[in-house]
Amino acid sequence: MNLGAHISISGGVYKCFARAKELGANSIQIFVKNNNRWFSKPFTYQELEKFQIEREKHQPFSVNAHNAYLINLCSPKTDIEKKSISAMKDEINRCEQLKLHYLVIHPGSHLGIGERWGINKIAQNLNRIIEEMAETKVKILLETTAGQGTNLGYRFEQLRDILDIMKYKERFGICYDTCHTFAAGYDITTTGKYQQVMNQFDKIIGLDHIHLFHLNDSKYELGSRKDRHFHIGAGYIGLEGFRALINDKRFYNIPMVLETPKGENGKMDKINLKTLRDLRK
Ligand code: MN
Ligand code: MN
Ligand code: ZN
Repeated sequence: MNLGAHISISGGVYKCFARAKELGANSIQIFVKNNNRWFSKPFTYQELEKFQIEREKHQPFSVNAHNAYLINLCSPKTDIEKKSISAMKDEINRCEQLKLHYLVIHPGSHLGIGERWGINKIAQNLNRIIEEMAETKVKILLETTAGQGTNLGYRFEQLRDILDIMKYKERFGICYDTCHTFAAGYDITTTGKYQQVMNQFDKIIGLDHIHLFHLNDSKYELGSRKDRHFHIGAGYIGLEGFRALINDKRFYNIPMVLETPKGENGKMDKINLKTLRDLRK
């Protein structure tokens, strides 16, 4: 199974592989810089080399990046918008340097200006960024969100609308977060409901656009629009929903990573991964 977790890069980006191995994860997600800062020091040549050597040793199925939380591609504040664009470019460059295939991003928060405005702004900025970085390859995955505050991307239609405006369609895809979509109102608590949600996604965006899953249970109820991840099976989604997803053959080749609370020494990651593996028929 192409299963794993978000892994820390503290002490050096290459350290993610040893941690992944220790966890028994073969799909991993990392930050490519400090996720709470605008910019970090560039990678050194030695770091980049070490990253590929370690990667070769452990041969994970997939390594993807998640962008920093400060980035907002539809901030109404011009200085933040500008900073977000250059930080986003920096993220793309770092992914290229590490030779990563996917970079997950949160579409953006319109901060009260309006959803339509926000969607157009995000699309405009993404088009501009990719246009100016035509030589890069990393695919940008728009993440489904819980719709907390003024976050966009909590309806499949909003993600479709952004993708529709993209000039370089092959550079974009979707990361499906189970906690976020559930909090946004997409119920997958039974096999039947799961199928309905997937049919809906297929009609609106197309299932072949999903390149990554974030597997998180939800601490809050359906439609709460609250983004709080919880241990697999212990939240409001429950085991049945995850059983349906884990056994959906259409996604056998899609990487899936946990973003659940790690607990002491990361022991909860091990437990959550075992819970998921045990669900496979
Ligand atoms: Mn995210
Ligand atoms: Mn997520
Ligand atoms: Zn979340």
